[in-house]
Amino acid sequence: MENKEVLLEVNNLKVYYPVKGSTIFSKKEYVKAVDGISFNVYKKEAFGIVGESGCGKSTTGHAIVGLVRPTSGEIKLHGESILGEKNRHSKEMARKIQIIFQDPYSSLDPRFTVGACIKEPLDEHKIGTPAEREETVRRLMAEVGLNSEQYTRYPHEFSGGQRQRIGIARSLTLRPELIICDEPVSALDVSIQAQILNLMKELKEKRGLTYIFISHNLSVVHHLCDRIAVMYLGHIVEITAKDELFDNPLHPYTKALLSAIPVPDPTINTMKAEIQGDVPSPRHPPLGCCFHTRCPFATDECSKKVPELREIAPEHFVACHFAESL
Ligand code: SF4
Repeated sequence: MENKEVLLEVNNLKVYYPVKGSTIFSKKEYVKAVDGISFNVYKKEAFGIVGESGCGKSTTGHAIVGLVRPTSGEIKLHGESILGEKNRHSKEMARKIQIIFQDPYSSLDPRFTVGACIKEPLDEHKIGTPAEREETVRRLMAEVGLNSEQYTRYPHEFSGGQRQRIGIARSLTLRPELIICDEPVSALDVSIQAQILNLMKELKEKRGLTYIFISHNLSVVHHLCDRIAVMYLGHIVEITAKDELFDNPLHPYTKALLSAIPVPDPTINTMKAEIQGDVPSPRHPPLGCCFHTRCPFATDECSKKVPELREIAPEHFVACHFAESL
């Protein structure tokens, strides 16, 4: 990446949910959805976060945009904390970060016209006159490939792809610097996925946007992202540039994820990096390395000592005691 100005810093972010049913006599238990992750996002880059469902990637995005309150940790935009009292997001800073959801239909109020849905953030922040707000919305609709004459239609009258265009237009109304894209194409047909990804790519270039792109689909992330973080059980296990991750994965979990991508040619013999068993419960995460219960290379040390996220090669960070030798 040419431009290395840091836009977002996440330091030791934790999101724990108390388990219902804990009594005053029992030790309080928590589901550790995100357990102490740190990363930077550079201005104008697309930063991918991948992992299986339940790994904490969506919770991370929701904590950054203010939909969940972090248990502890720091989130800074342009070096300034976006967390105020009791870790609540400050309203002014939160305006600069918006989100596109996986299911655009459930994020749009069915009682409102599409124009009103997109305009809502402008109304809430009292930006411009009513006529200026309508003009802004019609311009945004055209920019995302919708007909501005559809302003007075309702969300149920649109297809899945069109609804996601509405969600994208809504995320742009406050001119954010950072957009969290939470599985934005996984509910769409494959042919529509490519159109939406291309639209997001175009908007990023044209508006100088920065994305955090959350997905379980490595091929989708490969299409859009500059760097990728791999998450497992609330931890980041590897971060590096997209091509480096695909050409030279170092963490055993990343290797397993990549080897599971289907190859459309049966004559190509792909080596599967097998992992055993299921993901452990985030309520009782393993001690030591969070991956040791499934890792084919685990040793005694792995079950006792937490591996740090270390820079093994330039800009290539891996959390594994034996990353250099596997
Ligand atoms: Fe596997 Fe040990 Fe590395 Fe964890 S630290 S990924 S258990 S080898």
